[in-house]
Amino acid sequence: MQALDDTRAILRDLIAFPTISTDSNLAMIDFLGERLAAAGARVEIHRDATGAKANLFATIGPEREGGILLSGHSDVVPVADQDWTTDPFTMVERDGRLYGRGTCDMKGFIAAAVAMAPLYAERAVERPVHFAFTHDEETGCLGAQALAQILRARGARPAVAIIGEPTSMRVIEGHKGCFEYSTHFTGLEGHGSGPDRGVNAVEYAVRYVARLLELKEALKARAPKGSRFDPPWTTINTGALVGGVAHNVIPGKARVDWEMRPVQAGDADFVKADLHAYCAHTLLPAMRAVMPDADIVTETIGEVEGLVPADGNEARAIVMELTGANGADTVPFGTEAGIFQALGMSAVVCGPGSIEQAHKPDEYLALDQLAECLTMLQRLAGKLGG
Ligand SMILES: [Zn+2]
Repeated sequence: MQALDDTRAILRDLIAFPTISTDSNLAMIDFLGERLAAAGARVEIHRDATGAKANLFATIGPEREGGILLSGHSDVVPVADQDWTTDPFTMVERDGRLYGRGTCDMKGFIAAAVAMAPLYAERAVERPVHFAFTHDEETGCLGAQALAQILRARGARPAVAIIGEPTSMRVIEGHKGCFEYSTHFTGLEGHGSGPDRGVNAVEYAVRYVARLLELKEALKARAPKGSRFDPPWTTINTGALVGGVAHNVIPGKARVDWEMRPVQAGDADFVKADLHAYCAHTLLPAMRAVMPDADIVTETIGEVEGLVPADGNEARAIVMELTGANGADTVPFGTEAGIFQALGMSAVVCGPGSIEQAHKPDEYLALDQLAECLTMLQRLAGKLGG
């Protein structure tokens, strides 16, 4: 199969770019841009504020709404402290598998999509096909969020998004979001013998955590009917509570690290509004009665939207038809799909390889998975009207 040989060759080149999230991805993005431009795509490269990272957005076919977006992240997780049998940045083929960092998560899908570009250039007469290759997915979907801002501002937006994260080519229509925060408490230090003369930051942090526990219960009652997630409701986890120095000192600082995993958009707002009111009306007035500068500040570490299973999901219908799947599932890991869904696109996750192999030493992609992905992408050409 010519397409498989082409894809394998592109993937070999992609694996050789060590695009760990902490490092630049520009060389790989330029490489992809040149490949796509050679096939006739209109290529845009958008750098981030540091200038060291970039997103690629490219279009083949007419400049109009309703296109199909193939999306993948260019970054990979680190290899330090992992015991690899071979060099992670040199692709090695063995026993029907392609080994290397990023083979399954998720340069295999990117290589397959780029290998299809010449075919799409022939066939995309009615419906455009777009490519989005992003930076910093592994560190909070930063690239996709930046790309979403750009897409939001333009008229001709894609209608359907296929995110090729490794799902063993299963069609995935839902995953929870992941919202992470650190809440910082600033009180007033003092001697432990006079608790009322200080503002005990740890005690206020504990009251905040108690409120999180109440919200955790309240969220269970808000679980949408027929929710397909496990567990079916939005969860909250308190991951760390840090503060204090010694038995006899009133702690002036404390921090709570916590996360929530929303199953629906309204839940995050519900939690935030409740916490805001609780701090403004209960905790802060008590703290500031002793110390006017006392404060509670919540730092957002990341807010990655979930992918909400939707009725009449065109992306699901298309990908189920292309893969011959007779159903769609949910997964417990996050992707960029929710960000595209929040822009009004229908979105599914479907890509080659297993999430089991992602992020591990000796990460690999089975060639038969790659072949299945290519079959799907080849059939997709039939949806472009040519
Ligand atoms: Zn990934």
